[in-house]
Parts: sequence; C-alpha cells; structure tokens
Amino acid sequence: MFYKIPTTVYFENDCVNVHKDVFKEYGKKALIVTGKHSSYLNGSFDDVTKALNSLGITYDVFDQVEENPSVQTIEKAYSLNKDKDIDFVIGLGGGSNIDAAKAIAVMLYFNFEDGYKLYENVISQSSLPVIAIATTCGTGSEVTAASVLTNDKILSKASITYRIYPKVALLDSKYLKTLPINTLKYTSLDALGHLIESYISSKATRFSDMITLEGFRVWSNNVKAFDRYDDLTSEDFDNFLLSSTYGGMAIALCGTNLPHGLSYTLTYNENIPHGKAVGYFLYGLMKYADSKRVNDILSCLGFSDLEKFKDFLVNKFELNKVSGELLNKAVDELIGNKKKLTYCPYEVDKELLEKVAYSLWTD
Ligand code: NAP
Ligand code: FE
Repeated sequence: MFYKIPTTVYFENDCVNVHKDVFKEYGKKALIVTGKHSSYLNGSFDDVTKALNSLGITYDVFDQVEENPSVQTIEKAYSLNKDKDIDFVIGLGGGSNIDAAKAIAVMLYFNFEDGYKLYENVISQSSLPVIAIATTCGTGSEVTAASVLTNDKILSKASITYRIYPKVALLDSKYLKTLPINTLKYTSLDALGHLIESYISSKATRFSDMITLEGFRVWSNNVKAFDRYDDLTSEDFDNFLLSSTYGGMAIALCGTNLPHGLSYTLTYNENIPHGKAVGYFLYGLMKYADSKRVNDILSCLGFSDLEKFKDFLVNKFELNKVSGELLNKAVDELIGNKKKLTYCPYEVDKELLEKVAYSLWTD
C-alpha cells in the first residue's frame, strides 16, 4: 500500500488571512496566477494581496488563464514573467488556474520557452513552490500533483509529465458563494467523479478507501443542497469544498480512469464543462464494476439502487444525449491509452469501453 499527499492543507473560515504567514516561507516575490474575472469578484484576490502587502512580499499578476488552459497560455505567462525573479507561484481560482500555476511554476524553475516540453521526458517533481487557493468545488487540484492542459498537438487535453504538488492549500468555502449554479453543479460532479473513479480503481487501497468513503458521505449533503441553491448555508459551502478536496486526495493516490479518460474528447471537441463530461460515464463505470463496491457508494450517497442514481445524474446534471460520432471518437482515443485503462479494476476491451460510453442511453 502507498500513501503520499505532501500538501499542507488548511481548511477554515478566513483561511488566507489566518494562515498568511505561510507565504513568508516561500520567498519575497510572488506570481499570482488567476483568471480574468472571478477572483476579483469573490474576494479571494483582495484577501491574497492584502496578506502579501502586510508581509512586505511583492507580487506580479498573470490573470489571463482561460477554462481548460492551453499550452500557449502557459508559454505566454512564462515569457511575461521569466525575468522577474519570481520566488513562488500562487494558483488562485478553479482547477484551470491552479493547473496553470503548476505548469508556469515548472517553466519558471527550468527556464524553457517551449511549453510542449512540459510533456516530455522523465517525470520530475521540481518547480518553483506553488500555493493553491481553490474557488471551485471540483478538481481538488490544490492537493494533487496533476496539471491538465489543452494540448493542440494531440487535439485533446492531457496531464503534463511533471508532478507538482502544491506546498500549501488554503481553503475557505466563502469564495464559492459567487459560483453560478451550473459551475457549482458541474464542478461538484467532477469531485464525485474523482471519488467514484478512486473507489472503483485498480489502485484503491485501504488508505484511499478511508478518504473516498468519507468523501461520499460528505458529498451526500450536496444532493439535498442542489435543491436550495438560493438558500445555501455556510455549512453547505463547506461540504461542497470539503468533498472536492477529498476527491483530490483520492485521485492523488488512485489517479482517474474511464470517465475522465473519455471526458477529454467531449471537452476538447464540444467544449462540454469538465465535470459534466465526466458525469456522462460514471454510471457506465459503475454498471460493470464489483457490486459490493457499487453498493458501498450508493449507500454512502443515500441511493437505494444504481438506476435511481442514474436518474439523479441524468436529471440533475442535464446529461442529454451526446452524438454517436463523438462517443466513438472518445472510445477510439481512450482505447489507445493503455495506462489509463489499467487504472480500471476490470478488464476493458473496445467492446466493453463502447458499452461504458453508451450506457446512459442503451438501457
Ligand atoms: P475552471 O475552468 O477553473 O473555472 C470555470 C469557471 O468558473 C471560470 O469561468 C471561472 O472564472 C469561474 N469561477 C471560478 N471560481 C469562481 C467563483 N468562486 N465564483 C464565480 N465563478 C468562478 O473550473 P474547474 O472545474 O475548477 O477546473 C477545470 C479544469 O481542471 C479542467 O481543465 C480540468 O481538466 C482540470 N482538472 C484538474 C485536476 C487536477 O488534479 N489537477 C483534476 C480534475 C480536473 P475565471 O476564469 O474568471 O476565474
Ligand atoms: Fe476531474
């Protein structure tokens, strides 16, 4: 068995201010990597800059990260900041911004111009230090080593080969309060995907089960919370964020498998939000999995059987039919990714992968 999640995690109200001293440990000049709008609106950017100013830490800002960030965006951030003696990088926002921060931290550490080199050669864990502040409730990127970028050379999305765990995650669920309902829903569906793909995984161990089973229990609160979107409490937001961090811890140990592997084709080609794209394939993964494990998940989440869970997924997340052409493309692309397939606990040939991909509509 194996357990390694080296990120120090603080999860509490007013976290950035309460734990601002952690910034001092990583140097005198920070680069804040964020998106165009949301961190300015949800208060997180102000909290971070206030903390840095009070500590005498100077900073530059790169605020051009787009959803599903591209290699070109990472290259741009590198070229704008390579001569600024940056000591550490703060990833502020959703998974896109935190993943971008990790990749930028690698390029600033090694000083290379070509972003596609992020995919080359040996797996390395070296980079400038990264501090992650999550403002969505899906990816868990604040505790994982992965950075997923849109790679136009392979016409899909893929993780870079560098493994970058943030040094520290500062988690405060109040930043989630500005999330539009669909972003809240789809990012939390991503978190559920991480938990399911880690519990139904060839990499699952008693360590990872400890995290995933508790993650399902916390996520079960989200089921009811979706129905009172206009009336969510601080406790609801804590549950959304906590279940997401559990999901990140789970995939840090187990990786992802079929649903994530199939999802990338949907997002690259049709711009389907990451969590929704993953959601299409969760029922399929479960349908062919060990029934004991499936029942554990259903009972922690509060569903009496798999069909009821399927109805919940389809209705709550509006999983309308995807074209056969796109599903076939997703299957063709994943069948070539032998490593991803080995993370699935059961044998997968092309026929079974097609069944998983089509499962929501063929029963
Ligand atoms: P995201 O792409 O980071 O953000 C989605 C949208 O939500 C953006 O428009 C963003 O606006 C906005 N937003 C973020 N926080 C907000 C807030 N508090 N209030 C209002 N709007 C807010 O979404 P995500 O689902 O978190 O990240 C998806 C990416 O993570 C994908 O590329 C996926 O492949 C990757 N991923 C990574 C891992 C990992 O382990 N590293 C795991 C799973 C997925 P702004 O652009 O203005 O910020
Ligand atoms: Fe994901």
